[in-house]
Amino acid sequence: MRSPLPLALASLVLLWTAVAGAADAPADVVYRGGRIYTANAGDDIVEALAIRAGRIVYAGSDAGVGRFTGAATRTVDLGGRTAMPGLVDGHMHPLEGGSLLLKCNLNYEALTVTQLQARIQACLDATRSEEPDGWVEVVSWFQQNMLPAGVATSRATLDALATSRPVIVRSSFGHTVLANSRALALARITRDTPDPLGGKIAHDAAGEPTGILEDAAFEVFDTLVPKPTPAQDVAAARAALAALARQGVTTFLDAAAQAESMAAFHAVQHSGGLTARAHFAPPILPPEAGHLDAAIARIVAFRKRYDQGPIVAAPRLTVRNAKLFLDGVIAGPSFTGAMLEPYLVNAGTETEPRWQAGPSRGPAVYFPAPALKAALIGLGRAGIDPHMHADGDRAVHEALDAIEALRSALPGKDIRPAIAHDEIVSPDDFARFARLKAFAVLSLQWGKPASDTVDGLRDYLGPARARILEPSGLLAAQGAAIAYGSDWPVDPLDEWFALKVGVTRTNAADAGPKYAGRLGADPGLTRLQVLRAITIVAARELHADDVSGSLETGKLADLIVLDRDPFTIPAEEIAAIRVLQTVVGGHTVYAAPGFGN
Ligand SMILES: [Zn+2]
Repeated sequence: MRSPLPLALASLVLLWTAVAGAADAPADVVYRGGRIYTANAGDDIVEALAIRAGRIVYAGSDAGVGRFTGAATRTVDLGGRTAMPGLVDGHMHPLEGGSLLLKCNLNYEALTVTQLQARIQACLDATRSEEPDGWVEVVSWFQQNMLPAGVATSRATLDALATSRPVIVRSSFGHTVLANSRALALARITRDTPDPLGGKIAHDAAGEPTGILEDAAFEVFDTLVPKPTPAQDVAAARAALAALARQGVTTFLDAAAQAESMAAFHAVQHSGGLTARAHFAPPILPPEAGHLDAAIARIVAFRKRYDQGPIVAAPRLTVRNAKLFLDGVIAGPSFTGAMLEPYLVNAGTETEPRWQAGPSRGPAVYFPAPALKAALIGLGRAGIDPHMHADGDRAVHEALDAIEALRSALPGKDIRPAIAHDEIVSPDDFARFARLKAFAVLSLQWGKPASDTVDGLRDYLGPARARILEPSGLLAAQGAAIAYGSDWPVDPLDEWFALKVGVTRTNAADAGPKYAGRLGADPGLTRLQVLRAITIVAARELHADDVSGSLETGKLADLIVLDRDPFTIPAEEIAAIRVLQTVVGGHTVYAAPGFGN
């Protein structure tokens, strides 16, 4: 009788050979000759990567990658160029961003009145078939940046255009619309129309509406301008994905996902065009505070319908976040950020100002504290990560209190709560982020001197708070996990400018002397910190770090090749970095003209 041992041994050897053979089987693609920042735990830089079936099978030296090169392996010689993990954007609004790209888009540019008119006329001329009644929506108008500074616009600016169509121009800040006379007439806005609650209709000396409408005053257009069709949503999703691929973004979170957004990206995936990993955070709205069970059930239903399970090489849809708005924005004239101390008001005159505490600390946090705690615990039980909008220090404080309640109700459960924006945080709360394992999701580009951070804001916040505006470095120094989120299209999609500001805390050189220098007392982040914020830390925020966010054996091959090295160029030049190639799951989704592959 034969002993079973040799047989077992023989199959073991066979098995071992098979495994070892797989490990050394030829890769589909090999990158070599590069400076490849891995964003692994040691922040290692390697020379070479091997990719098979969308995954990284080797990260190391050029000498070591040779054994993965077979007859069919494609080799990319990086020629000393830098590569790094694909960018993970932990907070944006991609469907809105994509839809803006398809509209008449002024692209946040500084324009004279004549240039503004010429740009809009060009849009009109390109869509002549929509005369005489089709609405024209002009977007991304940087109203505060018109040339010369302070120049006024009115409906006459738009009435001069060669069109019969109703025209509205939306400011990039989102608080102003300029309408032509046709649009005002269709909205029935006349000299006698009263200001709506929370809105303002500007009038000229003769009492006629100028066409400038603030906040609630332009909500009337929501019902007049036709809603996008599903086909237009799909076109917007495609436009967004193309823009993201060019920037190097391989994973994103839609931070207030409507059903239309999930449906549109799902449709794009169906036709083979999903070129980034799409995460969605459907919102729970403040009126739902009274019936949270139903609200959480709605999020879970979205997950059932759209979440596609484990993240694999081909991009999928993931629904494991929910969005909660806790307040508005600290910027004037809104003052809707919930603050611990009052906003200051000028008790003096314009020439002799005397700033003192006013009556307002902003609104009550949009969810009462007990409801917010119950919401987080309920989401935690359902395995959903809460993603909170909190701009003022009281909103941030109450968000942290709710996370504390979540942690004590569900100790040890792997829930990853995030607090987005954090423009003002009480220094007493800095250390709580690390202690409670709360992610600070920051739009690093906000941390610079600009019209929204300097003009007026220093006055109504007071010097103590203005010093610590946008506290990225201060939070990081206390151990907070800083993830990057662009908040596109609140700002233009420009991840590299944002990373530059994260390091320098300065505006662009052409912003002018008014906005020269650094913002506040915050030390900013190191290059490593900003690069980790937009790769591995944001992947952790999205529960995707087991498969992405760094270039390590076994992870998915999401990577980008850059035209220069963010570690060695002057910090200001980080804004000028261009992506040469974007790869998602081993598949090239963008290549700059001239970058051979
Ligand atoms: Zn947002």
